[in-house]
Amino acid sequence: GLADRLQETFKKLRGHGKLTEDDVKSAMKEVRMALLEADVNFKVVKDFVKRVTERAIGQDVMEALTPAQVVIKIVNEELTELMGGSQSKINMSSQPPTIIMMAGLQGAGKTTSAGKLGLALKKQGKRPVLVAADIYRPAAVTQLQVIGKQLNIPVFSMEPGTDAVTIAKSSLNYAFTHANDVVIIDTAGRLHINEELMQELKDIKREVKPHEILLVVDAMTGQDAVNVAESFNKDLELTGLVLTKMDGDSRGGAALSVKAVTGCPIKFVGMGEKLEPLQPFHPDRMASRILGMGDVLSLIEKAQDAFDAKEAEALSKKLRKDEFTLDDFLSQMKQVRKLGSFEQIIGMIPGLGSQVKDALKDKDIDLNGKEMRRIEAIILSMTPKERANTKLINGSRRKRIAMGSGTRVQDVNKLLKQFEEMQKMMKRMKKMQGGKKGGFGGL
Ligand code: GDP
Ligand code: MG
Repeated sequence: GLADRLQETFKKLRGHGKLTEDDVKSAMKEVRMALLEADVNFKVVKDFVKRVTERAIGQDVMEALTPAQVVIKIVNEELTELMGGSQSKINMSSQPPTIIMMAGLQGAGKTTSAGKLGLALKKQGKRPVLVAADIYRPAAVTQLQVIGKQLNIPVFSMEPGTDAVTIAKSSLNYAFTHANDVVIIDTAGRLHINEELMQELKDIKREVKPHEILLVVDAMTGQDAVNVAESFNKDLELTGLVLTKMDGDSRGGAALSVKAVTGCPIKFVGMGEKLEPLQPFHPDRMASRILGMGDVLSLIEKAQDAFDAKEAEALSKKLRKDEFTLDDFLSQMKQVRKLGSFEQIIGMIPGLGSQVKDALKDKDIDLNGKEMRRIEAIILSMTPKERANTKLINGSRRKRIAMGSGTRVQDVNKLLKQFEEMQKMMKRMKKMQGGKKGGFGGL
């Protein structure tokens, strides 16, 4: 799927420092392919890739992220933006009833979604009424009545032969007299868009002036859904979309393209045939679902929380002045321990990242969670003076520290050796970067 393709792509992003044009371009080539294969509109893909590329090229890889994470972050933000930024809601009228008209092709899920929307609003304390304005299919009225009964929501209908506009208009009187503050009008669909259908919908719109015109589209139909949305929007000026059958294995194309093509936000998603409350659409959640990287994204968020710029700056200064002590080591470690494995963490330390990781690998240093807890215990068993100057720590002190931390002298020796290696490496890196303004990693 799309998620797998993208993850493969991001795995290939290597290196550190700045993201080079080549890095970004080859990654974007793959992203482009993946999106096209997911049936995202061609023009949308083109614009999307352009925006991500512009943002990613030359971006400093700092603030505790790896190059892949930086690109993932940008892709995620742009995907979210593509689908509408922040989440949309129903526009409630200050003068009830709020009138909502459902439109769409036959089988898109209008009737089902009308019921689900009614249920969602009912749960918010509203008193909705469902209006059976699909007069063409004989079973349509019955279908809505069955749904209404199941959800305990009233259904307004009129005798056979009444036209849809009259039904819609009359339903407003019903709402007034029954104190219904939301009117949800279920309309007729056709297999394809035709003039007759559009005219009827335009007539209903003109007569009842809905506050919301929601187009219901089937996500499984991909680009067709987008084309349908485009033409409905031209004629009706939609206020939002309901994307149904998101529980099926749609390739994501409709969700990704429809807002960009029509300018209409997706307001809700249908996630099954069962009559559950219609779910609000969250572009950010959908983006991370499409990326299939919920874990990575939350790690990125946490990493950013954990390292505010000031702290990074302070640490960087210490590194520059050779004042990086075991205390700093410990406080860094504590700060990031909640994030995950040491490998991930070291990759997030500003300006260090893969150089340190590689070097530590050579030294066969394994720093998993258990090891980290041991290290923490050892450092805490040292006196402040010892932590500031490891040269003080002679044989008898090592014995004392081992006893205090419930470890062995070998463990203390090992930690001190690791710390020494790290200091050496930092010195080496400092020399490598010497003269360059800002010191480590562009800080
Ligand atoms: P309408 O012709 O637009 O009113 O569509 P219906 O509401 O009658 O739905 C058509 C079919 O799609 C029905 O069998 C529904 O149960 C099914 N359906 C509607 N919404 C969803 C959804 O979100 N997921 C799934 N899997 N099926 C849905
Ligand atoms: Mg229907």
